[in-house]
Amino acid sequence: MSRVYNFSAGPAMLPQAVLEQAKEEMLDWNGSGMSVMEMSHRGKEFMSIADKATSDLRELMAIPDTYEILFLQGGASSQFSMVPMNLLRGKNKADYVNTGAWSKKAIAEAKRFCDVNVAATSEADKFSSAPEQKDWNLNGDAAYVHYTPNETIGGVEFHWIPETGDVPLVADMSSTILSRPVDVSKYGVIYAGAQKNIGPAGLTVVIVRKDLMGQMIDSAPTMFDYKTQADNGSMYNTPPTYAWYLAGLGFQWIKDKGGLSAMAEINKRKADKLYTAIDGSDFYANPVKPDCRSWMNVPFTLANAELDSVFLEEAKKIGLTTLKGHRSVGGMRASIYNAMPEEGVDALVAFMADFEKRNG
Ligand SMILES: *Cc1c(COP(=O)(O)O)cnc(C)c1O
Repeated sequence: MSRVYNFSAGPAMLPQAVLEQAKEEMLDWNGSGMSVMEMSHRGKEFMSIADKATSDLRELMAIPDTYEILFLQGGASSQFSMVPMNLLRGKNKADYVNTGAWSKKAIAEAKRFCDVNVAATSEADKFSSAPEQKDWNLNGDAAYVHYTPNETIGGVEFHWIPETGDVPLVADMSSTILSRPVDVSKYGVIYAGAQKNIGPAGLTVVIVRKDLMGQMIDSAPTMFDYKTQADNGSMYNTPPTYAWYLAGLGFQWIKDKGGLSAMAEINKRKADKLYTAIDGSDFYANPVKPDCRSWMNVPFTLANAELDSVFLEEAKKIGLTTLKGHRSVGGMRASIYNAMPEEGVDALVAFMADFEKRNG
């Protein structure tokens, strides 16, 4: 068996150590005589798994006690509607920043619940940058401000935290959570689908400031109420137990590696290597403004798009897979989340140089 370097944007690679531990514990978790998948979510074994995952995430991200951590289902896409349902709190306006494909989806969904003010957009430069704070036109009356710190498709990342005063800031961190330390206290809500940088698909992590809960719109389903989920320890119904367990193994793996500052150092180095390779060549190009480039998702094009399929085929042959860019962008995209080893990036950079030499 040989494992490939999988550059998929999501579901993405998981750390090999996590998969090996899961394999080890598959038939008999910790002497329980059963797989985690077979356990009652209310039994003491699974409760210990859930509690440890939750407290490890709290420790890793230094999440203050004034925040709840929820382990939900429905993906980040469900949060596009759960955020307005829970956070409007009697208001009818929300501010959104539009930096690309995922912001647009969040905006479209919010419009079903309230008046959306697009406070800033980088549409004019084809979403190749993150609008600077001075260009944001915030509405003081908004219930919250929503933005996408990392646009997974466009490869645009905010390397700073917006200032929104007393208006809660909401972040779709699906593709950047756990990639570096973050000051959680600056946010009202942080949410992320797990399949990029947390664990397997099927789990959604929501970090919500406690004082913002408990005012969901009356007509919304109980399942979508942050307060109900918090009061029930994310077990109002049966949670995605196995995904929660794997996420917990991932949190432990990050702790063993030295936590989020250590991850940040590695991630920055990985991204720098790839962007340096792209910028140092006339054959490869990345359209994003240098100070807005994502550490996690690196789109790039070849000088001659007719070579795209050859590039993908040859890369795959040497174990570099899922490099095809999103259909809306074309070209290539290398997603290099926490679980992508630095050796994977080195192998990609070496292949790119070799491919250019032969085809450039
Ligand atoms: C992948 C992604 C989503 C969608 O996540 P689902 O879990 O599939 O709903 C939303 N926002 C961002 C930034 C993403 O990267």
